[in-house]
Amino acid sequence: MIVKPKIRGFICTTAHPDGCAAHVQEQIDYVKSKPALDNGPKNVLVIGSSTGYGLASRIVPAFQSGANTLGIFFEKPGSEKRPGSAGWYNSAAFEKAATAQGLFAKSLNGDAFSNELKEQAIEIIKNEMGGKIDLVVYSLASPRRTDPNTGEVYKSVLKTTGGDYTNKTLNTDKGEIEEVTIGAATPEEIEHTIKVMGGEDWEFWMNALVEADVLDNGVKTVAYSYIGPELTWPIYTDGTIGQAKKDLEKSCAKINATLSEKFGGEAYVSVNKALVTQASSAIPVVPLYISILYKEMKEKGLHEGCIEQIERLFSDRLYSDDAKLDSDGRIRIDDWEMRDDIQSTVANIWQTVSNENFSTVADFEGYQAEFLKLFGFGLDGVNYDADTDPATAVPSLAE
Ligand code: NAD
Repeated sequence: MIVKPKIRGFICTTAHPDGCAAHVQEQIDYVKSKPALDNGPKNVLVIGSSTGYGLASRIVPAFQSGANTLGIFFEKPGSEKRPGSAGWYNSAAFEKAATAQGLFAKSLNGDAFSNELKEQAIEIIKNEMGGKIDLVVYSLASPRRTDPNTGEVYKSVLKTTGGDYTNKTLNTDKGEIEEVTIGAATPEEIEHTIKVMGGEDWEFWMNALVEADVLDNGVKTVAYSYIGPELTWPIYTDGTIGQAKKDLEKSCAKINATLSEKFGGEAYVSVNKALVTQASSAIPVVPLYISILYKEMKEKGLHEGCIEQIERLFSDRLYSDDAKLDSDGRIRIDDWEMRDDIQSTVANIWQTVSNENFSTVADFEGYQAEFLKLFGFGLDGVNYDADTDPATAVPSLAE
């Protein structure tokens, strides 16, 4: 099958198997160009491991620290007739590369919020990973969650928690700046967003792993958050998603207490940089901010993608002598994004950005290229006019 991009709003409904494999290989090559992480993790569970920050968090321990990995995701396999999702092909490519390197790599495709998935993961850790893991990365981004105990379905919303908020946004389909007004969430919508994107499920995972006795001494766990500049606070940090992230921090403190008492372990929230991923492209205002930010950071030689961020998180924070926590106890790998010189320039540009000057003050080309890459399009060395196999399997899931 010849697979071409089909973009609908802020998602692409097709993905290219060979392009996704090339994208994964690019990230592996980057990690291999860095010094090995001698004190890094050896047996890793990544929840949300197929795209974005989670995929990078699987690649870094595997290829920088020789770790065995169990990856969990919710992706669509391809068939002879229809391409699958990018995360599916990324995981297929990751497993092949890791196995070729002699590393254990297995995946579970299903609902990470369910009790069944947790039980299946524990079985694999016990039977195939030597019984103990030393790192758990929690990197889920989901619009809904079914409570595993009550069966109730919760949906997250991207709204403010105050009044209406109007600002500039980028229509990524048309490449045009428009005005958007985001309404206020009801108390119920705030509560539901916390249920989906807050810390409860991370706690459920960690409690299940503690109870099953599959955590190693010195175990670490990390989940990801975002803060960003004041101009996005009404929709992000002070919005519904920000409330969920505050809840994640509360869960982090509880998990940290348990891990430190029982295993001498540690739990962290890492605040990461704003990047083009499937999750972030759905948030109003953020893609315009990212386009301006990318231009500034590239010009100053500070630009990073998911793999550079996570490589730096592991080598400079999680597995260094000093995690350099902020006053709220969080890791700040968004430090370069938040530098005063970057933020003041971005804030100035934000005031004046318009459809007339957009192409000179922002990096929309870079944004679009990154977006297409998420789905395996636009990678060097891939022949997009040639047949590719949409039924490409994830080896450990091919039965
Ligand atoms: P992403 O959309 O690229 O990845 C989400 C992952 O979650 C995928 O592996 C997907 O398969 C998995 N997933 C979703 N629902 C699932 C389910 N029910 N069961 C199993 N797996 C499921 O997202 P991302 O941008 O990499 O976000 C990951 C985390 O990083 C989120 O917590 C996000 O808030 C945070 N973060 C993102 C940014 C950013 O700019 N993208 C910045 C800072 C922090």
